Amino acid sequence: MAAVIGVLPGDGIGTEVVAEALRVLEAVAARYGHRFEFRRGLIGGAAIDATGAAFPEETRRLVRDARAVLLGAVGGPKWSDPAAKQRPEQGLLDLRAAMGVYANVRPVRTHESLYAASPLRPERLKGVDIVVLRELTGGIYFGAKSRTADSASDSCSYTRAEIERLLRMGARIARQRRRKVTSVDKANVLETSRLWRSVAIELFAREFPDLAVEHLLVDAAAMHLLSRPGDFDVIVTENMFGDILTDEASMLVGSMGMLPSASLNDSNGGLYEPIHGSAPDIAGRGIANPCGTILSAAMMLRHSLGLEREAALVEDAVFAVVDAGLRTRDIAAPGTRDCTTAGMGDAIVARLNAG
Ligand code: NAD
Repeated sequence: MAAVIGVLPGDGIGTEVVAEALRVLEAVAARYGHRFEFRRGLIGGAAIDATGAAFPEETRRLVRDARAVLLGAVGGPKWSDPAAKQRPEQGLLDLRAAMGVYANVRPVRTHESLYAASPLRPERLKGVDIVVLRELTGGIYFGAKSRTADSASDSCSYTRAEIERLLRMGARIARQRRRKVTSVDKANVLETSRLWRSVAIELFAREFPDLAVEHLLVDAAAMHLLSRPGDFDVIVTENMFGDILTDEASMLVGSMGMLPSASLNDSNGGLYEPIHGSAPDIAGRGIANPCGTILSAAMMLRHSLGLEREAALVEDAVFAVVDAGLRTRDIAAPGTRDCTTAGMGDAIVARLNAG
């Protein structure tokens, strides 16, 4: 039976990068004898234009029936009026809620041929291999908000259960890696962070005594990510801190366009998307980097479809092409060859077919 994969390209460069990831998945299916059934749906601004809702009922049904979902990005200036009833970003929050995904998993691995694309010195980048787990359902993004003409508030809340499930997923991932976890909070100031830290201390001691655990305040973590990135293995943190730290960490790799992510629940379903947004400044020009989305599709092959070998082959193909010097503009360096979004997709598919 074919594995049903929901495909939600969204807005801006989302449609361009998802098209390349689909070509790669089709190449994997053809070469290794798998059957994937891609079901396309609308989300974000494109969905608002077509249906009036950022996460239409039809998309909700599609997602419910899918084994995994591949997402591009949502948003853009056309839909950015703060007074609008529907905002594209709401579609994303509704999608995550519908899938029950609570952990956003973002691997950050530096690659020697991309060192020049990072603002950091090469000696700092050597051997960096981090997985950041960002909590996705709680915290200040979801708390009660208030606003008057002269004041505003956003409240931040977390429950023990929300914290524990994220920490457990991080610990399980660490056990398959270098067995080190860094828990990031702001326990010197925030009550939610004091709960986070006490739950983390208890849970790791009780359930994962084999792991090396460190606790860092988020401001120090932001600094250490740049001064000693090679020391981190798995980072676990709450929603907003994770949002900010992962964008910072993307600069270790060189470009937001290179980084994949998976949003996971306790089943093997998942939502896979690049970490970048819809990039309206370059949308429609065929110059977006599709690698983050293609690497997200590889994560989908591994986590949701159980195709470890195929996932690794896709990852190898992406880095073989990048190592060979083919580059979209965001990762260009002296001596590399420029290519378009589709050109990068072509080269990765050709590499897979040759492998
Ligand atoms: P962005 O990630 O879209 O772009 C930031 C910068 O990185 C831009 O200069 C862009 O050109 C560049 N960039 C991003 N992805 C790239 C790629 N694949 N290849 C080459 N360059 C790339 O962030 P932004 O500009 O702050 O936001 C634009 C829109 O995207 C907003 O509407 C925002 O709400 C939305 N957004 C959506 C998501 C999502 O769908 N998950 C995430 C972040 C932002």
